[in-house]
Amino acid sequence: MSAKILYGKEFAAKIKESAREQVEELKSKFGVTPGLTVIIVGENPASQVYVRNKHKTCEELGIVSEVVALPEDTNKDDLLAKIDELNANPNVHGILVQLPLPAAIKAHSDEILNRIDPRKDVDGFHPVNVGKLVIGTPDLVPCTPAGCIEMLDLAGIEIDGKNAVIIGRSNIVGKPLLHLLLARHATVTVCHTHTKNLPEIARQADILVAASGKPKLVTADMIKPGATVIDVGINRIAPKKLVGDVDFDAAVDVAGAITPVPGGVGLLTVAMLMKNVVKAARLQLEA
Ligand code: NAD
Repeated sequence: MSAKILYGKEFAAKIKESAREQVEELKSKFGVTPGLTVIIVGENPASQVYVRNKHKTCEELGIVSEVVALPEDTNKDDLLAKIDELNANPNVHGILVQLPLPAAIKAHSDEILNRIDPRKDVDGFHPVNVGKLVIGTPDLVPCTPAGCIEMLDLAGIEIDGKNAVIIGRSNIVGKPLLHLLLARHATVTVCHTHTKNLPEIARQADILVAASGKPKLVTADMIKPGATVIDVGINRIAPKKLVGDVDFDAAVDVAGAITPVPGGVGLLTVAMLMKNVVKAARLQLEA
């Protein structure tokens, strides 16, 4: 048996198409074009690639995109002042501070992210948005876990009543995904570095999500035959070689459906960001 391979490209294209239609709708209904401002501090090359990608995707979809590039030595107060200015600007519907921040201000990351108006928090990291997700009334949800749900839906994979196991409990992926899956009536187990018997727990999963950042952590014997395996991991093991957290070549013979890395669920993250920008604009315009 060989698993169905869930390539991200076609799913991302569908999400972006729907975002593009909503941009047009907001333009005709309110005469307003949704706008995203991304703040990048310093010269981190990976961050620069991510920011360029976001900018390019905004342009494709007719979203106004501005990149605010601040020098490496920007202090916390200047960054907070910039966020205040963007919070007050009605043409900016989404604000995103690209992480990681430079070492000198990294310790203030929470304070900086929490300064973003929750209605403009298109990363979904603000405590107000986290709280709304936890109590089951989500507005803006983190893009990578939201992409996992969207992928399952677009691939026609049932979530309701299934056993889902997530490997990883970060605030960016594992924890929000727990709440998204719970809201869809899955029975969810979250594993982490202190989990005992990870293989045994993973084998219970109808839907197994790997978000550990550990190459080949998930081996074929950890997968229930026919299970859906979503590999969120992105690990650079050589200058030009990215792999996920799953031993794909072996897992593909056991799983029912599986996402590759690269080219899998990671491609949905930027598409979901676009969806969040449109949603943020709608929240502000319809308030
Ligand atoms: P993180 O380092 O913040 O969290 C990793 C989690 O995995 C932790 O909760 C840890 O307890 C758990 N973990 C690590 N080793 C484990 C082990 N041996 N057994 C069980 N649990 C273990 O990472 P993150 O930010 O959540 O990202 C996870 C992975 O997803 C990374 O590879 C990252 O690059 C990738 N990622 C991809 C996207 C995207 O596709 N756009 C977005 C965010 C993160």
